Amino acid sequence: VRLDIHGTADVIGVQADNPGWLTLDGTNTWIVGTGDVWVVDPGPELPDHVAAVAEAVSERGSLAGIALTHGHGDHSDAVPLLLEHAGFVPIISGLSGAGAGDSAGELEVISLPGHSADHLAFAFGDIVFTGDAIFADSSVFVAPGTGSMAGYLAGLNALIERDPRVLAPGHGPLVHPPAERLQEQIDHRLDRERRLIEAIASGHTSIDAMLETVWDDVPEMLLPAATVTLAAHLDKLEEEERLPADVERPDIPEWVV
Ligand SMILES: [Zn+2]
Repeated sequence: VRLDIHGTADVIGVQADNPGWLTLDGTNTWIVGTGDVWVVDPGPELPDHVAAVAEAVSERGSLAGIALTHGHGDHSDAVPLLLEHAGFVPIISGLSGAGAGDSAGELEVISLPGHSADHLAFAFGDIVFTGDAIFADSSVFVAPGTGSMAGYLAGLNALIERDPRVLAPGHGPLVHPPAERLQEQIDHRLDRERRLIEAIASGHTSIDAMLETVWDDVPEMLLPAATVTLAAHLDKLEEEERLPADVERPDIPEWVV
């Protein structure tokens, strides 16, 4: 499936056929530029998907580099296959040490941590490729760790300041216009935090009780993701010395890196 960004001939989206509870309709791979072409998030290791991406690249020019918003497999597993198609090119990612202000061809690197510690976004003119930092219609999980939730909120605020025209996420539809949706997500997280503090104060200190009280709108299927985000909220409260000692802390599953 191809996705177009209205008013932008220089970007093509190719959606991978890997739908799921974390990947929504599938991973969005973004092919950026003409001549020297960059691929943002090659996607999962599906030969048909990689072939479609390679074809879109060769329609535009040749592959100059790969930019990874983060290391999760649904965004990065296709890298070796794509390199087989297109030859050896630089790979820009948080894991390889790229950070805010760096560039990747015409892409500007933006720090946007939270979903994972290495998470980046990439600006191309007034479009920002935001990986799994923000979706149009659902929430992403925020990984636990020092500064993770605070960094996530700071990154969303900085993105509002930047005032892009459209956000091209790693899953689902475009986020357009961005500011309203970004603010909604910030408010949503702060609302959860406020309710979590209330729940803990009224004695709901077990993981189950906190989830039932504060994440009462979340379908059962998404409770594992909610539990991860709960851990990130608890880390933030602990850092801010607002967490009572008797609060139960979740074990973090292996798929959160
Ligand atoms: Zn993803």
